[in-house]
Amino acid sequence: MNQSSPFRGNVDETEVAKFNALAARWWDPEGDFRPLHEINPLRLDWIRQSTQLAGRRIVDIGCGGGILTESMADAGATVTGIDMAEGPLTVARLHQVESGVAVDYLQSTAEELADQRPEEFDVVTCLEMLEHVPEPYEVIRSCRTLVKPGGDVFFSTINRNPKSFVFAIVGAEYVLKLLPAGTHEYSKFIRPSELDAWARDAGLRLISSIGLHYNPFTREFSLGDNLDVNYLMHFRRPADE
Ligand code: SAH
Repeated sequence: MNQSSPFRGNVDETEVAKFNALAARWWDPEGDFRPLHEINPLRLDWIRQSTQLAGRRIVDIGCGGGILTESMADAGATVTGIDMAEGPLTVARLHQVESGVAVDYLQSTAEELADQRPEEFDVVTCLEMLEHVPEPYEVIRSCRTLVKPGGDVFFSTINRNPKSFVFAIVGAEYVLKLLPAGTHEYSKFIRPSELDAWARDAGLRLISSIGLHYNPFTREFSLGDNLDVNYLMHFRRPADE
């Protein structure tokens, strides 16, 4: 946790303020969130290959301006998107009017929603969010509560090692300027083994994982086996637990 940040529940207000300040640019494909636009078709495909989306109830935790959220609703799911930053939620609500894709957006933490709506969702997605909260384990536990027995939970975050420091912070924020400087804090990055251990402890079982690689020469993202920097993990809540 960043000791200088005000702390309210499992929310880092400094992080939320950062996303509020950038909210207006969320849907600009060339703007500050360009990487999210570029990776979205890849991560959506991977999620669709891993579970059915059409006709399912999904909650997207830390949905931001709704890039993944809308794409899952567009794939036929009934989607709720939650975030603690008002700016991105406002942008998300306006964008769905334009795109005609229906999503239910709420200002809530995962913990609050887990108290109110346990076992309501077939699928829980929580992408690029765990590295922005004080206690990621609490979010993982809440995801386990939100998903129905037998349901699927997807996380994505950034690994913590010298290579990820070079690629995800120095490269992405300072050299290539893919993201605004200060977007990520190295100490908040999570190793795949840590994410798996926390999820296991929370009652989720790892099904598969995949890396997300950025090639600075072609300027393209691709999925692959290497989890060194950005990666996604698919967990399942056992049907009988
Ligand atoms: N998941 C989206 C956006 C990632 S950006 C995507 O991958 O496209 C991270 C988002 O997490 C921001 O919108 C930020 O406001 C939100 N966030 C940070 N802390 C949060 C918290 N404690 N609860 C809910 N959302 C949070």
